[in-house]
Amino acid sequence: MRMVTSVAAMQRLAMEWKRSGSPVGFVPTMGYLHAGHVSLVRKARARVGQRGVVAVSIFVNPTQFAPTEDLASYPRDLQRDKKLCRDAGVDVVFVPGNPQMYPAKPGAKFSTYVVEDALSRRMEGVSRPTHFRGVATVVAKLFNIVRPDVAVFGAKDFQQAAIVKRMARDLDFPVSIIVAPTVREPDGLALSSRNKYLSAAERAQAVALWQAIRQARQLVRASTRPIPASRLNSELKWLIETRPAARVDYIEFFDPDTFQPVANVGRGAHMALAVFVGKTRLIDNGRI
Ligand code: AMP
Repeated sequence: MRMVTSVAAMQRLAMEWKRSGSPVGFVPTMGYLHAGHVSLVRKARARVGQRGVVAVSIFVNPTQFAPTEDLASYPRDLQRDKKLCRDAGVDVVFVPGNPQMYPAKPGAKFSTYVVEDALSRRMEGVSRPTHFRGVATVVAKLFNIVRPDVAVFGAKDFQQAAIVKRMARDLDFPVSIIVAPTVREPDGLALSSRNKYLSAAERAQAVALWQAIRQARQLVRASTRPIPASRLNSELKWLIETRPAARVDYIEFFDPDTFQPVANVGRGAHMALAVFVGKTRLIDNGRI
């Protein structure tokens, strides 16, 4: 497994892959890897085969964090990440530094951003107004550096995956975007690097997100007609906030293709939610 830390070296390698005709599978991450990330690596390998190459990037992207958010404390453990990548059969780990990705030299400061202008306006985009601009920008940069044929994203970040698909389509990136299912703990909590922030008491309460998705599913499936979103919303908020550390940021029901909110929730609608558990903000989603 090869480690690459410079943008120029990564671009040279990507050119070699293109010349030799090796298909490239790519998994962008912010590190502190877990079984969810590993499942994306496996998907990438399944798509490109043993002849192909699988690259993982590890970069805690500053432009997707607001100044009030957890950029400085975001968990990092490169040694452990490397071992997980090696064990998962990754060929190249790309770990660029901040100055490489976002030059800050006087007179040559980074100033170009990619903005998806429709799907980004809801949910995470309301709570984190500059988040998706940062995500789209770094993913566009990484696609230009690694030049993947296939890139794999997790359904855990459902809105992000949809925005990346839209960006790739709108800007003609020659890459297929694959969305892989959310990997969960045995009790249903979606794996996330941010779960590390949770105390034992908060960890026990964090299962509320998954329970709310299941509860919504059960209510909708048991009902003969669609349920008003506002009613489901207040019932689920109440259910979640019976846990003392949990505070709902948003719960939304929407069409998974258009992201338009649905007034009445029936089967096939999608639910997404963000909940603070203590100081940690967790997100999850699922089909109803
Ligand atoms: P992150 O390192 O959190 O930015 O995530 C990198 C990629 O892993 C994104 O495409 C995420 O959607 C995906 N991912 C994160 N957690 C999970 C999970 N529990 N299951 C599947 N994919 C995940």
